Amino acid sequence: MNLTILDAQLGTGATDRGRAGGRGRVDLEIVDGVISGVTPHDPDTSRRATDPGSTVIEAAGATVVPGLIDAHFHAYGVGLDSLEINAQPLSLVGIKGAARCGAALARGFTTVRDVAGGDAGLAAAISEGLVAAPEYLFTGPALSQTGGHGDEHPGVLNLCSGHGHMGEVVDGVDALRTAVRRRFRMGAHAIKVMASGGVVSPTDPIRFSQYSEEELRAVVDEAGRRDSYVAAHAYPAQAIRRAVRAGVRSIEHGNLLDQQVAEQMAEAEAFLVPTLIAYDAMNRRGDEAGLSADGLRKNREVLQRGQDAVRLALAAGVQVGWGSDLMGSLEDEQLGGLRLQVDASGLEETLRSATEVNARLLQLSDRGRIEEGLRADLLILPGDLADDPSLLWEERPGRVVIKEGRVVARDGRLLGPDGS
Ligand SMILES: [Zn+2]
Repeated sequence: MNLTILDAQLGTGATDRGRAGGRGRVDLEIVDGVISGVTPHDPDTSRRATDPGSTVIEAAGATVVPGLIDAHFHAYGVGLDSLEINAQPLSLVGIKGAARCGAALARGFTTVRDVAGGDAGLAAAISEGLVAAPEYLFTGPALSQTGGHGDEHPGVLNLCSGHGHMGEVVDGVDALRTAVRRRFRMGAHAIKVMASGGVVSPTDPIRFSQYSEEELRAVVDEAGRRDSYVAAHAYPAQAIRRAVRAGVRSIEHGNLLDQQVAEQMAEAEAFLVPTLIAYDAMNRRGDEAGLSADGLRKNREVLQRGQDAVRLALAAGVQVGWGSDLMGSLEDEQLGGLRLQVDASGLEETLRSATEVNARLLQLSDRGRIEEGLRADLLILPGDLADDPSLLWEERPGRVVIKEGRVVARDGRLLGPDGS
């Protein structure tokens, strides 16, 4: 099925050629899910030149950007309390997770990386077309040391098996190597480790580094031999430094980084994936989502520093991506994370973070830009984005989501395979 988008203004993410002189308008030709042509729009001839079998979208006045990529998503993050999530049957968590994926697609996210939870079953259901969802890349349960951020034991009462829907406790080099190999056997995209304390876990202050460097190096080694990489949850500068030194490529959150560590990250070509909206939403709606008083206090520790971390990282030359990390009912603020990052780094940079940079982070060379030969994952915004950046994060009528050349959502609503 072919699609033609006429008279589109390209937002950031387009090549110089696609931008046609910067502000020019173009026609996009899409064949079999791939962008096959990006040509300057000509009001006299464009329409006549259109393939008669092609579906035409008139985009005059609208802006087209690459489909958004969320590099820190949790399909199975159906609540803030992982013990409570583990108490639910996996089938129920899976069905709720599928709905969360569909909602993300309707907002304009055509690819997500799930960095804790999610599994091969959900991924298979999505790739078989049973579930409307962004392309779904998963790490499986995050690896955590005993007493670490992914340790879901309820304090001193050791009741859990240590393997939940979101995290798995694995200690020691040999056991970690086996756990990593198991993840790749089931189709994991990358490996997630918990390398410092976190907000929602009750027994580990944020400032502590987790896992020995020897353990981190073993995980990196196993992932590297699969041409994959490691993403590490880390807040304090010290924990980020250790993770990057061990070869971790993707630092998740990173709120407490400092200039020195930012320079180290740039040197190592590591990525930062800020998740600004998670703290902002937990601060405003933590009660509703079931965040404990201790969690709320820890959240305030990192909330203030998040936007500074983005600025520090960019100034040092770090590749800064974008993620949401929203759990439970807070997921409806996913787009709001773009607004917070625009506040920190501006529109162009943020859009690049959520498209081109994230694609590079996810090792996906076929998307993240609007260019001939790339996947037609696109988001049409109803207006001039340069004049009105809020088009990016507000779901206004006329917002159209295209995944692999097919219109999958319109006005914030998912469409069926027949387009209705
Ligand atoms: Zn997370």
